[in-house]
Amino acid sequence: MYVGRFAPSPTGPLHAGSLVAALASFLDARAHQGRWLIRIEDIDEARTVAGAADHIIQTLAAFGMRTDGEIVTQSHRKALYSAAFDKLGDAVYPCACSRKEIADSRVTLATDGAAIYPGTCRHGLAPDRAARAWRVRVPGTTDPQGLIHFHDRWQGPITENLAEHVGDFVLKRADGFWAYQLAVIVDDAEQGVTDVVRGADLLESTARQIYLQQLLRFSIPRYLHVTEVVNDRGEKLSKQTGAQPLDVGNPLSALMQAVAHCGLMLDRTPRSVDEFWAMAIPAWGQRFRDR
Ligand code: GLU
Repeated sequence: MYVGRFAPSPTGPLHAGSLVAALASFLDARAHQGRWLIRIEDIDEARTVAGAADHIIQTLAAFGMRTDGEIVTQSHRKALYSAAFDKLGDAVYPCACSRKEIADSRVTLATDGAAIYPGTCRHGLAPDRAARAWRVRVPGTTDPQGLIHFHDRWQGPITENLAEHVGDFVLKRADGFWAYQLAVIVDDAEQGVTDVVRGADLLESTARQIYLQQLLRFSIPRYLHVTEVVNDRGEKLSKQTGAQPLDVGNPLSALMQAVAHCGLMLDRTPRSVDEFWAMAIPAWGQRFRDR
C-alpha cells in the first residue's frame, strides 16, 4: 500500500514553493490510490513560529488537501529519535568542535556549502574537550559502502560519495535538538512511508538519509524530487526571497500555478477546486505512475 506524506516545517505560512511540494505529494498519493499524511516537522524548535502549523494545516484544507491519518508532530516524538540513535552504537561519536573550529580547519565544502567535517573527534575527544554534538561516521572516500546510488523518479539516477560530498554529519546538535536527517528517516519508517515526494532542495539530503536507513535496516522509500519554483531572478520562492503567503481566498489560481510548475497541462481551466483535483490526479498519474 502506497503511503506518502507532506512534512512542512512550521516556520511560517505555506508559500508557493511549499505548495508545489504539498500538491505533488498529494497528487502522487492519489494517483496511486494511496494514503497521504501531513507531518509537522518542528524538530528545529528554535525556528518554529507559534501558530504556523495550524495555519499550514488550514491552508491545505482550503486547497482540498486533508491528511488520511493522524497528524504527528516531531517535537512530541523525541523518544523515537533517541531510540534510533541508541541503535547506531559505534557508528556515532561525540564531537567537541565548534563551527568556527571546523571552518578554520576546513579543506573542502559540502554540497550544501557547509564545511566538510575534517574528522578531528573521530577517534575520541581530546582529554580537555567536552562533547557538543554527535556525528555519524561515513565510510572512506574509496569505500563502496559510502557510495550511495538511488533512482529519483523525477531527477533520474543519482550517485553521491558521502565522504567527498558531506563527511561525518551531525545527528544530535550542539543545542540539544535532534537533526532533521535523523528525525525524518525515523518518522518515514515509523509511519510506513513508501514514497517521498518533496522539493529538489532536499535532493542532496537524500544520500545521507539512505545511509542512515541502511545503518538502521529500515526499508528505503522511493524518492521523487520536484524541481523548485524559482522567481524571475532565478531564486527559490521562500520567505527569505520575499515570497508572499498564498492567497487562501483564491485556491484555484494558486493550484493552477503549482500544477503548471510541475509541467502538467490540464485540458481546460477547471471551474472549482474539486474539478481541479478530478483533472490533475489523472494527469499526474499519466506522467508519473510508472516512473
Ligand atoms: N521539513 C522539511 C521542509 O519543510 C521537509 C522534509 C521532507 O520532506 O523530507 O523543508
